[in-house]
Amino acid sequence: MSLHGTYDSDNIFAKIIRGDMPAVKVFEDDQVLAFMDVFPQSRGHMLVISKTSKARNLLDAEAKTLGRLIGATQKAVAAVTAALKPDGVMVSQFNGAPAGQTVFHLHFHVIPRYEGEPLGRHGEAMADVEDLKVLAEKIAAAL
Ligand code: 5GP
Repeated sequence: MSLHGTYDSDNIFAKIIRGDMPAVKVFEDDQVLAFMDVFPQSRGHMLVISKTSKARNLLDAEAKTLGRLIGATQKAVAAVTAALKPDGVMVSQFNGAPAGQTVFHLHFHVIPRYEGEPLGRHGEAMADVEDLKVLAEKIAAAL
C-alpha cells in the first residue's frame, strides 16, 4: 500500500528540511542533508536525505537525486568511520511500510556497527539530544 502514493509535504523530514522541526545536522549543502537519527540503532546512526526531491522511496527517485544521495551517503560512512572507529557500517533503505519504512521521504540509514554490540531495535529508544550533538560534531570534524 504505502509503496505507492503521493508525497506528503508534511512528513517529518520535509519539516526538518523547512526548519519547522529541529534536527541535529552533520552536514548539508543545497541538495542533501545528513543528520542524526533521534531513535538510533547504534552510536552514530545517521540519516541522509535529499533536500529537493519529492521521492517517497527508491522507485520514485530521479537518477540525479540518487547519484547525489549515494555520494552523500558515502561521505557520511567515511566520516563516521574516521570519527567513531566502528568495526563495520551498515547502510539500509526501506521501501513501503511492510519493508519497515515509517517516514515516506526517501532516506538512507548509515548505521555504524561495533563488534559484540547487537543492533538496537528500529525506532525504539529516543536519544538524548545533547549526546547526539556531541556525536554530530565529532563526525562533522572528520569530514
Ligand atoms: P524508516 O523507518 O522510514 O526507514 O526510518 C525513519 C527513521 O527516522 C527512523 O530510524 C526513525 O528513528 C527516524 N526518525 C523518526 N522521526 C524522527 C525525527 O523527528 N527526527 C529524527 N532525527 N529522526 C527521526
